[in-house]
Amino acid sequence: MTAASASAGKAVPTVKHLINGAWVESRASEWRDIVNPATQAVLARVPLANADEVGAAVAAAQAAFATWKTTPIGARYRIMLKFQALIRANIGRIAATLSAEQGKTLPDAEGDIIRGLEVVEHACSIGTLQLGEFAENVAGGVDTYTLRQPIGVCAGITPFNFPAMIPLWMFPMAIVCGNTFVLKPSEQDPLSTVELVELALEAGVPPGVLNVIHGGREAVDALCVHPDVKAISFVGSTAVGTHVYRLASEHGKRVQSMMGAKNHAVVMPDANRTQTINALLGAAFGAAGQRCMATSVAVLVGKSREWLPAMVEKAKTLKVGSGQTPGVDVGPVVSRAAKARVLSLIEAGEKQGAELLLDGRDVKVDGFPDGNFIGPTVFAKVRTDMSIYTDEIFGPVLVTLEVDTLDEAIALVNANPFGNGTGIFTQSGAVARKFQSEIDVGQVGINIPIPVPVPYFSFTGSRGSKLGDLGPYGKQVVQFYTQTKTVTSRWFDDEPDTGVNTTISLK
Ligand code: NAD
Repeated sequence: MTAASASAGKAVPTVKHLINGAWVESRASEWRDIVNPATQAVLARVPLANADEVGAAVAAAQAAFATWKTTPIGARYRIMLKFQALIRANIGRIAATLSAEQGKTLPDAEGDIIRGLEVVEHACSIGTLQLGEFAENVAGGVDTYTLRQPIGVCAGITPFNFPAMIPLWMFPMAIVCGNTFVLKPSEQDPLSTVELVELALEAGVPPGVLNVIHGGREAVDALCVHPDVKAISFVGSTAVGTHVYRLASEHGKRVQSMMGAKNHAVVMPDANRTQTINALLGAAFGAAGQRCMATSVAVLVGKSREWLPAMVEKAKTLKVGSGQTPGVDVGPVVSRAAKARVLSLIEAGEKQGAELLLDGRDVKVDGFPDGNFIGPTVFAKVRTDMSIYTDEIFGPVLVTLEVDTLDEAIALVNANPFGNGTGIFTQSGAVARKFQSEIDVGQVGINIPIPVPVPYFSFTGSRGSKLGDLGPYGKQVVQFYTQTKTVTSRWFDDEPDTGVNTTISLK
């Protein structure tokens, strides 16, 4: 417990697991504090579950699957209809919790919830999304059709940076397809996730269909090896995502692992200057740079390098402060450890010879002496061998590189190990078209800084940003959360003797 919570003299609430429809106190021996990153006040304590508690959640999900899988589609999506209405009605309350535990500004916290809410809305159309296919008369009197059946117990492991959107990428689509679910939220900020799960129960999700287990590595590993878990959805860093992908795959599960990023924005000299600078700064410094789709690298092509002084001047105007203070643009980073890591990368950038055009390290916020604040920071003359380029910084730091041509920019982006998001800023359709076709990155924006697709498409990624074939939400996730069965049938209306057929062909 920190001084802040101790001095307040209040008992710190504990976060409960959800097992078989009941919120239960954990018996874990290890716990950690959930801390407001602007004040260091302890908001709650979260257990780090062991394999036994994970086993209890999986058992509840496995038992519930027997009836949930046969629950009519209409009954399933009517729960989602109610769920989306409840989220909408409670958005302000959940955003306040999210901002307090994660640090992002209140409007951005609402955005986090709204992007997840869109997935819940899309889940309401599962009646058409889960349709199979039918081919009549593939041979004499023979029809073939497919069934898209739920696969069983699915599990989701989520990161700290979108505690609303990313859990909502997972459990609504999984359960509306007829699966049951065990969610393992980030142990850094599970409170807003729990508030969403409470609304899902209120909407009518039956006991055992959705379970929540809190924890870290031990809980995650237990999910990855549990024989009754059929699929794992992971979103988080590349190191952990690769571990989860390997371990769960070895244990026979289907896995989708959405991982780290280094997102490049390519700025052509013909781009709309003001709009481009605004877009770059919003995408680099919004959420204190802690978005997997944050623009962390600007590749300035030709004369667009002359815009750097204007970019720096505008970055200086962004207001740093507590996410709950109106008018703030950049909140704190999530933890003291995250801040220390970002500061050490800035120091390394300086030592390695990059030019620090704007240094946010000494930012002070009135009334919040203990916050994990870092002001907008901009580097120029960055080389691809510097750690500020090779590592995902996950803080409000924009690194800029300069090249002479579009081809050089494309080669640079494609040589980076990550392939999550990218954008091009230009007024030329031909340039944009060449870029979208030649770039090897999952999400591509054209004059759009954070091109996260709406839920009727699917989120994707390439190279070091994704493992597994199918991405979250959209049509791909319906494939991920269902098993296709083909049925080939023939019905006889009399009893002709057609003889014994010993070949493989259908007649
Ligand atoms: P993280 O990898 O540290 O944690 C993610 C989850 O894994 C958490 O639930 C955590 O409890 C668990 N975990 C942590 N260490 C583990 C270990 N050693 N073994 C097993 N499980 C472990 O990620 P984070 O810091 O919470 O989130 C930030 C990262 O997530 C960034 O890299 C960001 O780019 C990435 N991210 C990616 C996407 C995407 O769609 N590609 C979206 C959001 C965030």
